[in-house]
Amino acid sequence: MMEEQLEQINSEVIACTRCGLCKERHQVVFGSGNPRASIFIVGEAPGFEEDKTGVAFVGKSGQLLEKILLACNFSREKEVYLGNIVKCRPPHNRVPSPQEQAACLPYLERQIEVIKPKIIILMGSTALKAFFGTSSRITRERGNWKNWFGYPVMPTYHPSALLRNPNLKRDAWEDFKKVIVKYRELVDNEHYCKYI
Ligand code: SF4
Repeated sequence: MMEEQLEQINSEVIACTRCGLCKERHQVVFGSGNPRASIFIVGEAPGFEEDKTGVAFVGKSGQLLEKILLACNFSREKEVYLGNIVKCRPPHNRVPSPQEQAACLPYLERQIEVIKPKIIILMGSTALKAFFGTSSRITRERGNWKNWFGYPVMPTYHPSALLRNPNLKRDAWEDFKKVIVKYRELVDNEHYCKYI
């Protein structure tokens, strides 16, 4: 069963000491949303609120993402599952090191293997580079579909970048519109969105 497989990975993550990020975490942030979701959204790392609650994307970035998902008529309860490249908060929200990412990524890959989403959204530079290599550039590659082991992947800005620079919101919305089109193509051709 899918839920049991995820529970198995979760119990490994809770006990994980594969990298130094385990030392200062309050909680691991395994992932949240519908385990039967068609869209898997990948961010960078838990922040302060996530570390406190153990839930992915509940801080300011999460609230903005929630608004974007609402505009798309997607929700965590149904269409979306959310996770990060690393499952423990890096101190002071620094970017996780390549070693930390390499240590943690196999958990995310296993989650994707279990959930088998139809679409993956990579939010931000760290997620893009973790999947496609360090020469990837989010400013250059966002908005263009990529292929990761057969999964259609849409890179876009991380919501924290949109909070820092609201001018990027227009581009991010264009990216999510492409996701809606793809979702209609691959999952539900009657998916309603009042904007497109
Ligand atoms: S970040 Fe990942 S690899 Fe590092 S301790 Fe946490 S769960 Fe383990």
